[in-house]
Amino acid sequence: MGNGFGIKCKKCGYNYVAMDGIGYMFPVEYSDTVRDIREGKYGDEYKMFFEKHKDAAVNCGNETAVCTKCGHLDSVMNLSLYLPKDGNNSDGCVMPRVLEEDFDKCLEYDHTCSECGGKMLIISPEDEIRNGALKCPICGEILIEDKDVKIIWD
Ligand SMILES: [Zn+2]
Ligand SMILES: [Zn+2]
Repeated sequence: MGNGFGIKCKKCGYNYVAMDGIGYMFPVEYSDTVRDIREGKYGDEYKMFFEKHKDAAVNCGNETAVCTKCGHLDSVMNLSLYLPKDGNNSDGCVMPRVLEEDFDKCLEYDHTCSECGGKMLIISPEDEIRNGALKCPICGEILIEDKDVKIIWD
């Protein structure tokens, strides 16, 4: 469940809707992601981490990332790896909110831009827009909130 946050460029018409949060398929996405990690899809470091720590958890929340090189905006799975603070993860499928509270972050995934291969950073789109910190990837104008967009998704 999450909120859509609209972003637009008033100069060239570029627009993007950020849909952060988790979907109703979360448990399935979670187990698929753990399988992919164990199969080495996200690299050896990730694979080893899950082999070494039986209580390892992964953040399967959807977040907005921006390319540090070309400004491309995209929706990515967070994919940070965590270990429980009390050494016990009985749940197996952990919500991002719980990870923030009861787990320690151990590894962050390096997201790369699908457009240019540059490094992407996970951002809070609301904060970045409020601070005027996002630029249009097409024309370089400061991006603003598109108030016409209000999507609640589940
Ligand atoms: Zn633009
Ligand atoms: Zn890029």
